[in-house]
Amino acid sequence: MHITERKINGYERVVFGEDPSVGYRGIVAIHSTARGPAGGGTRFWNYRNDDEALQDVLRLSRGMTYKSALADLPLGGGKSLIIGNNKTKDREKIFRAHGRFINSLGGQYITGEDVGTSPEDMVYVRHETSYVAGLPGASGDPSPRTARGVFRAMQAAARHRWGSDDLSGHTVAIQGCGHVGYFLAEELHRAGARIVATDIDHEKVQRVVADFGATAVPEQEIYSMAADIFAPCALGGIINDQTIPQLECQIVCGAANNQLLEPRHGDLLEKQNRVYVPDYAANAGGIINGCCQEILGWDLPTTLKKVDAIYHTILEIFQLAQKQRIPTYQAADRLAEQRVTNSV
Ligand code: NAD
Repeated sequence: MHITERKINGYERVVFGEDPSVGYRGIVAIHSTARGPAGGGTRFWNYRNDDEALQDVLRLSRGMTYKSALADLPLGGGKSLIIGNNKTKDREKIFRAHGRFINSLGGQYITGEDVGTSPEDMVYVRHETSYVAGLPGASGDPSPRTARGVFRAMQAAARHRWGSDDLSGHTVAIQGCGHVGYFLAEELHRAGARIVATDIDHEKVQRVVADFGATAVPEQEIYSMAADIFAPCALGGIINDQTIPQLECQIVCGAANNQLLEPRHGDLLEKQNRVYVPDYAANAGGIINGCCQEILGWDLPTTLKKVDAIYHTILEIFQLAQKQRIPTYQAADRLAEQRVTNSV
């Protein structure tokens, strides 16, 4: 394994690994270890060029610092890439090389699965290093915990907007009834909320209709539903110039990553007096689940308490936003930065 390192401002380490004998090329970016070892998954992707790969790993590793800090986990932020075709059948050689590369960092970085990788791939990584989570059967499907965290975030937003956590009688419009959307519908149904839902996959939406009495709506109508809360659980970038004028909701709170197409769309929601719950604060249940159980060895009840505490983080974000007169998406970043600084 040929390993080189590049100094990049704002990052603790950016390391490049290459093993031509197995056709492996990878990058690990460690943004911060101020709160603990840098945690973040392995993305396997065929980038158009090396610069695109580098920009992606830098952006993602920084995001992990913020996400872990906001979730109050004893983890820093990092991310790794394997550059190449993620459909390759030659997985053992590639992932074992990746494991050797990660092991050479001595525990400064802990990996897991991400786009293009699976729990089975992590088993190969585990042959070479113990600095890996997300193995099959370890902490299980993160989606129910992610959904629980989003539900708690909604309760916090309801309290902030309407003075009560009680979601019964409120209508929630769910976009995307996949892994998270389904379990979110279950939480909302239990809490007595009314659900309208959409999905491009007819079967998925029908399951939510059958199991939780949701009303199915066509894909394009979800934004303009007369709902109190809009819950994006499908795609990123869906809060944009086309969708904002259609919104009827008072709260936007969902699981999808990168909901705001651009930061200015967060400002726009604010101007319209809609409460935006920053996505990476609301959807941290999955990472909390994996980290607490697999890395810290917590039991399930203690882990679930930590997921439920997302409620308090969201309230803190709203308080900071009000105090500093800034939009909630900026307040989330500031709270994360405070938590990183306070831990140094
Ligand atoms: P998923 O693929 O299981 O579900 C997404 C659903 O959205 C699918 O059923 C798909 O058919 C539907 N969809 C796609 N395009 C749509 C459209 N235009 N309109 C309506 N529905 C559409 O994914 P998931 O695991 O449920 O994750 C949902 C979102 O939450 C993703 O953005 C993901 O990155 C984010 N997230 C998930 C987790 C987790 O634990 N799974 C954790 C954090 C963030």
